[in-house]
Amino acid sequence: MLKIFANLFRRKGGSLDNVLVYPEGKRYYKESHSIRKTSVDPDAIKIIHRLNKFGYKAFLVGGGVRDLLLNKKPKDFDIATNATPNQIKKMFNNCRIIGRRFKIVHILFKGKVIEVSTFRSLPEHRNEKHNKDKDYLMKKDNVYGSAKEDAARRDFTINSLYFDTRNESIIDYVGGFEDINERVLRVIGDPDMSFKEDPVRMLRAVKFSVLLGMDIEKKTKLAIKKNRLEILKAAPARMIEEYNKIFRTWKTSIIFKGLAENHLLDVLIPQPFEHIKKDETWIANFFEEGVGKRLAITDKLLTEREEMTPCIFYALICYDLVKPSLDGSKGNIAHNIKEALDPFCESMGISKRDKDKLIKMFTSQSRFLSIEDEKAEQNAFFKKKDFFYDAFMLFKIIAISVQDDKALQSAFFWEISLRQRPVRDNHRNSHNNQNNQSNQAKPNIQVPSTVSSNSSSNHHSSGKKPYKNNRNRRPHNRNQSESKNPDTSSDSFKEGKSPE
Ligand code: ATP
Ligand code: MG
Repeated sequence: MLKIFANLFRRKGGSLDNVLVYPEGKRYYKESHSIRKTSVDPDAIKIIHRLNKFGYKAFLVGGGVRDLLLNKKPKDFDIATNATPNQIKKMFNNCRIIGRRFKIVHILFKGKVIEVSTFRSLPEHRNEKHNKDKDYLMKKDNVYGSAKEDAARRDFTINSLYFDTRNESIIDYVGGFEDINERVLRVIGDPDMSFKEDPVRMLRAVKFSVLLGMDIEKKTKLAIKKNRLEILKAAPARMIEEYNKIFRTWKTSIIFKGLAENHLLDVLIPQPFEHIKKDETWIANFFEEGVGKRLAITDKLLTEREEMTPCIFYALICYDLVKPSLDGSKGNIAHNIKEALDPFCESMGISKRDKDKLIKMFTSQSRFLSIEDEKAEQNAFFKKKDFFYDAFMLFKIIAISVQDDKALQSAFFWEISLRQRPVRDNHRNSHNNQNNQSNQAKPNIQVPSTVSSNSSSNHHSSGKKPYKNNRNRRPHNRNQSESKNPDTSSDSFKEGKSPE
């Protein structure tokens, strides 16, 4: 009864108390949930204790709380506090303030970073009634606020729960606890306004619903459909970060299918889908051919301990666009490839550096068909190229997807010639033997290892360290600034994330 009543007043836009389902914050004490301090990273607990000791409020928030409630292993633990970045900095030696649009503090530990952000308020316009002609796109998000304002300004109810380590209770202002139990993904506040403020949230909505197996709530779903074109206003740097996060989930193919079902894929990346879209069954047959099939193969290879980089994904997504240039003999191939890639790279927000690499990857594809022994010296030279690994993976995945026997044989040749003696890794063997691949040798090639940064900001457009199967790694905190903090430096590929 209480819940029906609460829902009646839920998310109508307008004042803060209308956005919040429980304006005073509903407490769920430890009898009603399973999160304990012991499930949280001890360093995150130490930070919270220190902030408390100095008289500040501090809670665990976001994906960490959500994932623990869902019995998933959190990727990281973020902290929200009423201390400002400068105040936090005075309390910790091992920290730095980062970000322009959104200042947060990174507290550095050996091999990990814990992010501490100051409570922020809702944008001013949330107090107004929604005006469909007004531009709500948020350019800044640096106005500090209270804990409940901070809850209201977050994206989805499931991401807005605060864990209070002092008594192991959860504070819920937005109805996220019930939504987690009911597996519902719901925007906080007016979905139209929320998506206009930050269109990247639409991509995140689909990603979370697919990854967490949640249904997108009706109004949220409708708002995605209605506001889908808004996503074109999102900053390319934010988009590419979100894509790169998707690629490391090992579930890119099903997330992309989710994007197609929610009318976003053909807006986001129109070029590869222009032809297929005419066939009404394209979504139902998403994994049968083209991009969907290639991505599904790649996700599977990731689970089989193969390593991937963002450029491999970009190339697989745009392969159909470039293929005519690869097949044709007219003109300068590199030039034709570049022409084909230009609009695609712009839609995806791909940096010039990555575009140049894509061109090299594509122009070298035919090179993989030359496998004669007398070419051993040239082959060795080719293997040393910095784009080689990505180009080879592209070749291999295409060969698998089109089941081209000759190409498959060539891929096998290169694979064999690339592998070192098997190296036993006891840790991996003990955990990840399902595919009998645990002592499979690693390719003896230079996998890209640096991180390219977007020249216009210190935010990384795409890391160059390959994604890999790392499900046996301990969960750890990484620099998590990417989506919350798009203008900041984030080494998003320094460590692969465990997708579970
Ligand atoms: P993941 O497991 O992918 O890290 P996450 O929910 O922790 O999921 P982050 O990108 O790390 O996602 O963001 C941490 C939190 O910051 C989110 O849970 C959410 O509360 C808030 N947040 C992130 N991006 C946005 C956004 N675009 N708009 C509003 N709040 C956001
Ligand atoms: Mg996170």
